[in-house]
Amino acid sequence: MEEKTLADRRREELAHAPKNGYDRLTAEDELAMKAYCEDYKKFLDNGKTERECVSYAVALAEAKGFRKFERGMALQPGDKVYRSNRGKALMLAVIGRKPLSEGAHIGAAHIDAPRLDLKPNPLYEDSELAFFKTHYYGGIKKYQWVTIPLELHGVVALTDGRVLKVNVGSGAGDPLFTIDDLLPHLGAEQGKKPMSEAIPGENLNVLIGSRPFKDDKGSDRVKLAILDLLNQKYGIVEEDFISAELEIVPAFRASDIGFDRSLIGAYGHDARVGPRAGLAGMVQMSGTPAHTAVCMLADKEEIGSEGVTGMQSAAFDTFMSDLCDTQRVPLKACYEKSFCLSADVCAAYDPNFPEVYEKRNSALVNYGMGFCKYTGARGKSGASDASAEAVAYVRKIMNDAGVIWQMAELGKVDAGGGGTVAAYMAQRDIDTLDAGVAVLSMHAPFETVSKLDCYMTFKGMKAVYEAE
Ligand code: MN
Ligand code: MN
Repeated sequence: MEEKTLADRRREELAHAPKNGYDRLTAEDELAMKAYCEDYKKFLDNGKTERECVSYAVALAEAKGFRKFERGMALQPGDKVYRSNRGKALMLAVIGRKPLSEGAHIGAAHIDAPRLDLKPNPLYEDSELAFFKTHYYGGIKKYQWVTIPLELHGVVALTDGRVLKVNVGSGAGDPLFTIDDLLPHLGAEQGKKPMSEAIPGENLNVLIGSRPFKDDKGSDRVKLAILDLLNQKYGIVEEDFISAELEIVPAFRASDIGFDRSLIGAYGHDARVGPRAGLAGMVQMSGTPAHTAVCMLADKEEIGSEGVTGMQSAAFDTFMSDLCDTQRVPLKACYEKSFCLSADVCAAYDPNFPEVYEKRNSALVNYGMGFCKYTGARGKSGASDASAEAVAYVRKIMNDAGVIWQMAELGKVDAGGGGTVAAYMAQRDIDTLDAGVAVLSMHAPFETVSKLDCYMTFKGMKAVYEAE
């Protein structure tokens, strides 16, 4: 073997030159990664809305011994509890050996994803075709949502107090829906428009039927036939749409991507990938953690974390305060000693669009769990910007736990920006660092992530919960 030069040795000792995760992955981790990703695909297919994610997570947690947390309940180290916030956000905790005055270790993620919501008065007929009017939710590129298969998920709340669940598209043999686009033969003018204007928001009308009501001489016979079908199936009338939350989501199933099956393509990696990691880390923890471990799955991140189920809601403080009350610890004393890792997504460097990335500081596919000291736009506007000490703390946890990880920014400084729930944890006086899985085609109806990065993010979340 050739002798290493002094420069070679000093380079090894001094330079930060991360290797592809596959050059560092152990055989044991590779096996665990495969199992983890099969479970993750099921989570994706069973949780296409925030409500479905909560239901799925609650069932999983209960199977692992978590109980519904009621205010005033006595709790001992090792106890596992959860609280659902209106069925759209979820908080879980495993009580630690140390008191809450020494802080909690929190994994925070959001479970809402970009989609098309039905408008309050959605149903109409035009030219003997029936449609639903939609209002897009979150940052989408509208042209990506036409001519793809779509499903309808959500609830209809009735005035008698009943809440009907709707899920059309994911059952075997279910019909699907779609939004039509102009044929290229007549698309010359459309083709000249900027992409953001080629498909206006008011054109995102979902095609839901074409067969007229039989033996009716009135107008709107196709709409009437649809209303009749919905009435037979759900017992609802048109006014019931007013108190509904119905979401149009892509009909794609989570699938392996690539000959080597190293990637997963699916709707809603942003954000199911962080929640899955936070949740799996929680239920797979070995023994009672030193600090109380808390997993927060929030709604409404994609529209600013507002609302009663968003990260800005006091529901999280109430849950934490109720936990603290069981130990007579002031909430603020718990918060100032707590640490939060916000598990979301980051932008994967895409060689098809190199102009918007700064490669030295971009997340690379297969380079492991991504950490972002700050998010925000331009001059870090809107970022919570974790302290150097918080980043060093996480580096140590990850290195000790054998997590493959990388440090990243979203893209070029002036190219754009974004935010996560991290800022709202930091506002509460909780040291918080952003983390995430690198995603290709973020916010598209079909997003792509790497299996290695998904698995390492789970391993990283678990390590934070378990840290002394
Ligand atoms: Mn996200
Ligand atoms: Mn997002």
